[in-house]
Amino acid sequence: MKLVLANPRGFCAGVYMAIDVVDQLLDICPGEPIFVFHEIVHNRHVVERFRARGVRFVEEIAEVPDGSIVVFSAHGVSPAIREEARAKRLAAIDATCPLVTKVHAEAIRYARKGFQILLVGHRHHQEVIGTLGEAPDAIQIVESPRDIPSLVVTDPKKLIYLTQTTLSLDDAAVIIDALKLAFPEIKDPPAGDICYATTNRQTAVRAIAPSCDLVLVVGSANSSNSVRLTEIAANVGTPARLIDDASEIDPKWFAGVGTLLVTAGASAPEDLVRGVIQALVTRCGAEVEQHDIRHEAVEFGLPGTLKAAMRDRGIDPSGRRIVRGDDGAAMREWFEKEGIGFRTVDMTVRGETMSG
Ligand code: SF4
Repeated sequence: MKLVLANPRGFCAGVYMAIDVVDQLLDICPGEPIFVFHEIVHNRHVVERFRARGVRFVEEIAEVPDGSIVVFSAHGVSPAIREEARAKRLAAIDATCPLVTKVHAEAIRYARKGFQILLVGHRHHQEVIGTLGEAPDAIQIVESPRDIPSLVVTDPKKLIYLTQTTLSLDDAAVIIDALKLAFPEIKDPPAGDICYATTNRQTAVRAIAPSCDLVLVVGSANSSNSVRLTEIAANVGTPARLIDDASEIDPKWFAGVGTLLVTAGASAPEDLVRGVIQALVTRCGAEVEQHDIRHEAVEFGLPGTLKAAMRDRGIDPSGRRIVRGDDGAAMREWFEKEGIGFRTVDMTVRGETMSG
């Protein structure tokens, strides 16, 4: 069996940042309880690893004792949650991905200009709940074209759509086309809201999956980004399985599979991908080939609220940066150490680099 690894896959700049915020807090606040509002990123292993280090995850601000440290997750929160945290004098550290903050800012700006906003996304996703909270009177959520007849639009000339950052590009295109048909004057967002990481991971699956017999996506079931990758594979006619880690692999899946694509959602750690590769090589004698579809060069800085917390503790934040995990060299070393045959295939459009 040939095993193809998609590149890019796994952690995005926002996830590196959010995870590093909690890591750095554990470092600068030894012994202090650290609370995280909602899962810091949607990955079971990431959350369990932090829990094992004493971090407490809550779904209500009321659960956090007055005056404690609370981290807002990468998905962002509504102003009401920020206000609740202020009322309890919490030291709030904001790990919201800047690309989510961008969508919040668009919602605020267009609501102030008197626009009605159609927010394309999943109603119960934390990110959509946070964005909706910025302008609840101006925003209506659209989950599918079926929602369009029940929308209440007072002035079709003052209408804009925004989207969740982690949607399927395919599904979003269908919904946006339907919105444009129903409201020809609807405005596009100033810059696309589906983020670079979502776009790139889906583009890689769309490019590689048609020549594969099965796709394995490493990621958790509540990760929008990861689930969308399985849907993109299905859209191009290749069955896909979502697994949290190697322990969920069922050998029965590989009957008749000649080429297998492995990828990972933006919140899935690379060590879990390696675990999957190792298991596949051991069980199926797979050869590994990485297909590079796009190079990414996006990095975010430390959030201002974390820098302020450092200064409060007499720590100069200027020497600290977001710690990024693996680079290509580390991955090659790992393959070498494990004795696994590995080569890369450059399928990028010449020199293409995707920035956020
Ligand atoms: S998936 Fe996109 S929006 Fe979400 S954390 Fe990553 S970069 Fe930010």
